[in-house]
Amino acid sequence: MKISLVRLAEGLHTLHFVEKLADLGVENLPDLDDKVKIQIDLEKRSPHYFLKNQVQVSGHFACDRCTDEFDRSLTGESRVVFSSDKEMLKMNEADDLHYLAADAKEIDLTNEIRDTVLLAIPMKQLCSDDCRGLCAGCGANLNTETCHCAAPPADLRWEALRKLL
Ligand SMILES: [Zn+2]
Ligand SMILES: [Zn+2]
Repeated sequence: MKISLVRLAEGLHTLHFVEKLADLGVENLPDLDDKVKIQIDLEKRSPHYFLKNQVQVSGHFACDRCTDEFDRSLTGESRVVFSSDKEMLKMNEADDLHYLAADAKEIDLTNEIRDTVLLAIPMKQLCSDDCRGLCAGCGANLNTETCHCAAPPADLRWEALRKLL
């Protein structure tokens, strides 16, 4: 994914792209739609380029707690600076700062966008934050069913035994 710098004016630009996951080097993620929507807010202040990258991709997931399937739109954001000013690069060791040749004709954002997409995927997939999951006893989906495992009926014989222990 490349941004052309040829004839790019100084100042703020908003750029839109739609990229395929495979073209970004993101593979083995069958849960995600193939298309990623990208908005780049780019500010050119020679010799620097300040970029804010926003990505949006839809996915189909299975809840880690209740196993229900659901669709969700994921969004992610990253910031990166490209500059041909070696002094600035030396002073600032933040890894979102990259050297760009003064006569560069384009910026390749493939790696930045790929990482932004990967970071947008939550470690845990939950259909909702308060998903109650499955009962460990009977497997009932506690979001939609009630079961009696959590409050077992009192068994008087066991009560009597417990008193002896
Ligand atoms: Zn769930
Ligand atoms: Zn149960």
